[in-house]
Amino acid sequence: LNLQPVNLDHLIHRQVDLIRPTAKKQSVAVQVRCPRDVLPEVMADPVRLEQVLLNLLVNALEAMAGGGSLCVEAEVIEETVKISVVDSGSGIPAELSDKIFDAYFTTKGSGNGLGLAFCDKIIRQHEGSLHFHSGTGGTTFEITLPIGSEFE
Ligand code: ADP
Ligand code: MG
Repeated sequence: LNLQPVNLDHLIHRQVDLIRPTAKKQSVAVQVRCPRDVLPEVMADPVRLEQVLLNLLVNALEAMAGGGSLCVEAEVIEETVKISVVDSGSGIPAELSDKIFDAYFTTKGSGNGLGLAFCDKIIRQHEGSLHFHSGTGGTTFEITLPIGSEFE
């Protein structure tokens, strides 16, 4: 990892801006909720973190082929920052929840099943965690990253 102080607000907005055209075509409403002045910098590899977030955003869009809403939210919880990607898509059936992080597991005709395995690995390397919950209303993926003590 190429660790450096990362401004999450900028990073989130840049990745969301990348998917806006696709979201618009798909009739997916996009919302970003970042407390601009409150989010601390985190020690992270910005390129890797961008790839993780983009993977989650693309998965969310792929789960909302018929339109919907996508919200990316960041908040500080004690010594961590939590980034949530909330979609109103198809949801993940309970019986698949153990498998989605496995490399090569995909339910998509053209998927390679590597996205979440990669995301999980990268977030673990940052000593963070990646969790999700899902239901009929959609799916939420949550990235939790430690706030480096270097900045306190
Ligand atoms: P791929 O996108 O190539 O299928 P991933 O590792 O990114 O591979 O995702 C694995 C599987 O997890 C997907 O095929 C899909 O079934 C499920 N999945 C991931 N994200 C979502 C989501 N936001 N909504 C519904 N299902 C999802
Ligand atoms: Mg994917």
